Amino acid sequence: MAPRGGSLRFRPIPMFRTFIVEFVLPLILFLLLRNMLRGFLSPRPRGVARGPQPPPVPPGGELKKDPVCGTYVSTATAQQERANGETVYFCSPECRDRYKASQRG
Ligand SMILES: [Zn+2]
Repeated sequence: MAPRGGSLRFRPIPMFRTFIVEFVLPLILFLLLRNMLRGFLSPRPRGVARGPQPPPVPPGGELKKDPVCGTYVSTATAQQERANGETVYFCSPECRDRYKASQRG
């Protein structure tokens, strides 16, 4: 006699595949999309620290404070002036001139 149970035994495998393709894959895609949208919609910046930050230091430079206006300038790009045996750094020639004028007093 024809084994009816034998043909039924192969059914669960295609049904399981259909279950994966029609239900699990869309669910995974939906979850991925939802996570992407959440990250897109949330205003929280990731890894970027906002707030007071020191100015960027060019390579080979060191930050020094401009004694006239208080701006931090890089020794690589700043206006320099030797005063009282030490080098003073300025953000601009104007600050340097003001400093020199104040030193002459
Ligand atoms: Zn300055």
